[in-house]
Amino acid sequence: MGFCLVSRIETDGNGGVSEIFLELEQVNVWRGEGAEVAALADVTLSLRTGESVAVLGPNGSGKSTLLKLLTGALRPEVRDESCCRLFGEERWSIDDLRHRIGVVMPEEVARFDPEEEAFDVVLSAFRGAYGRTREMRFSRKERVAASRAVDRMGIRDLIGREYGALSSGERRRFLIARALAHDPEVLVLDEPSTALDFAAATELGSTLRELIRSGHTLVLVTHDPGEIPPEIERVVMLREGKVLADGPSRKLLRSDRLSDLYGLPLRARWSRGWCEVRAGG
Ligand code: ADP
Ligand code: MG
Repeated sequence: MGFCLVSRIETDGNGGVSEIFLELEQVNVWRGEGAEVAALADVTLSLRTGESVAVLGPNGSGKSTLLKLLTGALRPEVRDESCCRLFGEERWSIDDLRHRIGVVMPEEVARFDPEEEAFDVVLSAFRGAYGRTREMRFSRKERVAASRAVDRMGIRDLIGREYGALSSGERRRFLIARALAHDPEVLVLDEPSTALDFAAATELGSTLRELIRSGHTLVLVTHDPGEIPPEIERVVMLREGKVLADGPSRKLLRSDRLSDLYGLPLRARWSRGWCEVRAGG
């Protein structure tokens, strides 16, 4: 692997410290049994704490693959010109990463036993598990931290319910609480509105805005520009495994750029900080 010439820790304009948590240089990721799919090709990108970002692109463009680099679930192809660092390190333990980056992937929703008590879904974060086994014991500190995450997501009333009895919106909230349990520096959500009805998706959108406003760094992965809240000022556009554009939302969420990204004529209109998109030239 090569050497990344990037200064990792800087002070932001408000006197806070911001740190690069993902540094990619010319990264390729191959997927499939025989590693025959170039899911990411020559990707150079850096993401820092204190700056929430939306990763936008059509299905199959490599968004989830990018997130799996962040969780350590996938590794890039090893080549001289490539570099992949998480929090400045080329080597890290998945356990350490779990404390620093909270992730919710869409496939996780179905991983829990429907009879699991909802609060145990959150607690199980501390064992890197999907649900609690009888052997698991949790400290007071862990319970307090899980409880704090529950409050942040506004789901205290539901903690005694069975996971299977929750609505899809409520389940999503429990998964986000689980990702927040470690109080991570970065929260990463992959297509968080999948399978939510309009009301649940709108409510979730408000919660995400509050999380950003209260100082969380959010990486929001979505195929829908209309889901990107006004608080997210940077967009990374992915197409066919490549970074098509990376810059301010106001500049990139426009008709010409979005038409190019999705390969069909789209009309974008801004309203109160949101981008509304419809088909048509
Ligand atoms: P997105 O999240 O943007 O929809 P993904 O990162 O899931 O895209 O996928 C990127 C590319 O990698 C796609 O072409 C997809 O078909 C391929 N891919 C993803 N996962 C696998 C897998 N387990 N085996 C083979 N190909 C895969
Ligand atoms: Mg995906």
